[in-house]
Amino acid sequence: MISVYEEIMLEERRQTRTRLNKCNQIDEDLLCTECGYNLRGLSVENTCPECGMRIGVSRRGIALRFCDPLWLALLTDGARWLAIGCVAQAALIAGVTIGSVLFPGAPAFRVALWITLIPTVLFILHGFDKLTSHNAEEDESLLNIRRLPRIFFFIAGMGTLATTLLTLSPPVRILIRLFIATPFFALSAILLLAYLRKLARRIPHLRLARHTTLFVWSAILMGLLMFLVEGFMQTVGLLRGVPPAPTSTPANLMGTYLLFVAVYAVPQMLFFLACAWLMKRYHKVFSLTLRQARGYEE
Ligand SMILES: [Zn+2]
Repeated sequence: MISVYEEIMLEERRQTRTRLNKCNQIDEDLLCTECGYNLRGLSVENTCPECGMRIGVSRRGIALRFCDPLWLALLTDGARWLAIGCVAQAALIAGVTIGSVLFPGAPAFRVALWITLIPTVLFILHGFDKLTSHNAEEDESLLNIRRLPRIFFFIAGMGTLATTLLTLSPPVRILIRLFIATPFFALSAILLLAYLRKLARRIPHLRLARHTTLFVWSAILMGLLMFLVEGFMQTVGLLRGVPPAPTSTPANLMGTYLLFVAVYAVPQMLFFLACAWLMKRYHKVFSLTLRQARGYEE
């Protein structure tokens, strides 16, 4: 592991491309980006004899502005769609929280929720997909920090679909929600943020990377909170049975509701709004990098 500082120094040195001789071979000392092997004398068309990494990548450096503009355009677009999706998600949480008090059980309210939910899910899916798309120029292992959030997101989505579309017994539904949907959504968000932090270091934009670390930690806390609150609510709901037992008067239901808003809905809403702001920053930085990359191509 090399430190971020060393990584940037390495980048600065690579800004001017490495010299080649007449046979297209590396004409000075150049260390492989992946394993540190000295690539001097090898053809740029080849791969590193030690680790198999393309020599072209080591020669160009790992800074994002040297990457394929098509891939950078996907990142830029993905950050934008994810920002929109996060705002929509925050609005949806606010809608559910307020609407379930004002119009409990009203069919029009349920329809309105579905109408908001579908574009929200599509925005987030679309943004997530673009932001974690593969850069064809880079070789990667089967399981890596780019692919794992996609896999976890898929598992969580399947769990959610199963609990929404299938008729399952309440304990099974609760187990799927608690041990598949919630933790895998949280894991995919945590790993996506960690992946973005890695990209921020390759810009290199260390302040953005540091701020993203804060988001990684808040996503871990959000995941734990969701698990605890949902677990508690679902277990209570299961024990009480539906409809609620006659002992639960409207007064103590209101108390439970306010507690739910304070510890669950509001933190979640704030988290999604903060994520939208972070994605907007990534969008700005990626589009700047994209412009630089297009400049190098000309
Ligand atoms: Zn190597």
